[in-house]
Amino acid sequence: METPKNPTSIHHRIREGLSRVAMVMRADDWNRAKLAGINPTQLSILELLEGRTDGLGVKDIAFHLGVSQPTATDSIAALERKGYVEKRATENDKRSLKVALTIAGLSALRAGGAVEGATDRATEVLPEYEQEELLLVLVKMIRQLQERDVIPIQRMCASCRYFAPFVHSDAARPHHCNFVDAAFGQRDIRIDCRDHETADPAFRAATWDAFVEG
Ligand code: SF4
Repeated sequence: METPKNPTSIHHRIREGLSRVAMVMRADDWNRAKLAGINPTQLSILELLEGRTDGLGVKDIAFHLGVSQPTATDSIAALERKGYVEKRATENDKRSLKVALTIAGLSALRAGGAVEGATDRATEVLPEYEQEELLLVLVKMIRQLQERDVIPIQRMCASCRYFAPFVHSDAARPHHCNFVDAAFGQRDIRIDCRDHETADPAFRAATWDAFVEG
């Protein structure tokens, strides 16, 4: 049994903490999904497809969500019946179909996104510097998972070809986004940016070093 004299490892306790937060997030997701008459897996698919105008293949969707291909296929079929997604042939290969978000799917997503969850409320009350620290820790953890091929590359600034970290002397807005040609701060770092374009590995590595060395 864990006692102050005999604690479990810090990794174990961080995992316990993350699992409590994840439990509440799952409940938040159910509330959001309910508004659109779908389930959380289907909601995650709509979120994943937003901003990906060319759509994604079933295999990619399954990998991003960490579910099996049959589960992804079933969820996509349910979304298709509701008119929230559609399958499109790709330009280069007419036999290869991609799943894309429809206008109805985007509306359903926005309706769910407007609901404030318990985890939003819990982070809102943290001091601003702690919110920023939490965001940066999450970026670092997500990058570790990417590097280990546990998850695919996410649409984060840290992997984006438009990201130029710490190029401005303004401490409040040291980074530059070359997509919108604007400076921005640590608290504006994106986890899932719709304008993201994945940089090549050498650029990603150099950008990451510059970002963490700050
Ligand atoms: S396009 Fe998005 S992900 Fe890329 S640097 Fe700009 S804000 Fe970050």
